[in-house]
Amino acid sequence: MHDLVWKNCLNYISERIPTQSFKTWFEPIKPLKTESNVLTIQVPSQFFYEWIEENYVHVIKQAMATELGPDARLEYSVVVKEAEEEGAGTSVPQFSGNNGSVETTKKSFDPAFVDELKADCNLNPTYLFDNYIEGDCNRLARSAGFAVAQKPGVTSFNPLMIYGGVGLGKTHLVQAIGNEIKSKDPSKKIIYVASEKFTNQFIDSLKNNSVQSFISYYREVDILILDDVQFLKDKEKTQEIFFHIFNHLHQAGKQIVMTSDRAPRDLKGLQERLVSRFKWGLTADLQQPSFEMRMAIIQKKVQEDDIQIPDQVLEYIAYTVDTNIRELEGVIVSLIAHASLTKVDVDLELAKKVLKNIVREIDSEVGIDYIQKTVSDYFHVEQDDLKAKTRKKEIVIARQVAMYFSKDYTNHSLKSIGYHFGGRDHSTVIHALQSVDNMIDTDAKFRYSVDELKKKLKMRTA
Ligand code: ADP
Ligand code: MG
Repeated sequence: MHDLVWKNCLNYISERIPTQSFKTWFEPIKPLKTESNVLTIQVPSQFFYEWIEENYVHVIKQAMATELGPDARLEYSVVVKEAEEEGAGTSVPQFSGNNGSVETTKKSFDPAFVDELKADCNLNPTYLFDNYIEGDCNRLARSAGFAVAQKPGVTSFNPLMIYGGVGLGKTHLVQAIGNEIKSKDPSKKIIYVASEKFTNQFIDSLKNNSVQSFISYYREVDILILDDVQFLKDKEKTQEIFFHIFNHLHQAGKQIVMTSDRAPRDLKGLQERLVSRFKWGLTADLQQPSFEMRMAIIQKKVQEDDIQIPDQVLEYIAYTVDTNIRELEGVIVSLIAHASLTKVDVDLELAKKVLKNIVREIDSEVGIDYIQKTVSDYFHVEQDDLKAKTRKKEIVIARQVAMYFSKDYTNHSLKSIGYHFGGRDHSTVIHALQSVDNMIDTDAKFRYSVDELKKKLKMRTA
């Protein structure tokens, strides 16, 4: 009888919540008994019980009301699997009323799994504030990061969200925050984790039945640093878990630091409730480094490695490589390697040669795809949107600009360009070219953007 009641409840619930959530949270539940209007279900952990109470109790009650009438009551039995318990002993079911809390004496914990997690969370000691050069492009982010590192969880910068394009120093900065806190107070529990790793850990925990260990582990930290949250895009279950962890930590006054490759408002495929929390604290961006900043970074790097490179060469590199700091470092490393292998001095000639190779390696030919990617990155829109039907203003502009460069930088015909932008007509492409020309003439800001993009695209063809 209780099986049937529960089955009907499940049908009711499954129609009202996302499939993934249903699978995660309802499939593991066992119906235990029904006595008059009380249904008892068995859940595999204390955490499970909390999660359901927090997120799904409403829908369960509705389901039960239709099955057992308006006075229906739900009771939980938390049965922790033996294998997950610390120490020996048989599992003891514990009961509670639907309003009271469940009394569990033992936490479900999988020490091996936690050890595995711990081994994964190391900070890289080379990323410090000391070697994080300050400039106009990172001043706000750096000083906010520094403030957070002095008083984690206490400033209003919680969460601290750092965003910016690839290679602009997000990881370095948030690692520096972690290292700084650690050096001041080694007892603080700090976790740095890339979102991709976080996702994989979560999936592993689902596989080996240790979701609760996973959650407990993250709920116990003092500082959580989650790198590249854009990776959580469309990963509903992971977002759900992170949402829960986030709330717990934030309420407990623990510091959360995150990075993303775009502004929170542009994070598509992330739940709105999560994104809105990202904006609770401070959001600071990292921008492309200026020439002076690039010079400073190169000089620092050269000093660290104790290499002699003429200023003229450094200037040439700083001038030519204007995309991001990672690329800049890459060029210097190659240059040094080249010089030491061939036993020649680093001079302008060599620099030009090395740069030419590197630039070619990165991308030999500018194609429509590359243009679309560069332009959509620049305007912070999705590349796919350029090919989609949407007429949102910022997307229309990005699309037109990408068409414009496709005409200028490739040999594609108007028809072919239209085809690459979601099968549009060649007259649409003509219209795009005209309106870009028009805007270049009338809008200084727009003209600046086009010039910037030109530089980026040209660098690849040089
Ligand atoms: P992101 O995470 O934004 O892709 P990283 O933090 O990995 O970028 O930075 C790329 C490289 O540039 C790293 O080697 C980092 O040390 C270096 N870097 C970035 N910003 C700075 C800075 N302001 N000063 C010194 N080095 C920097
Ligand atoms: Mg990074």
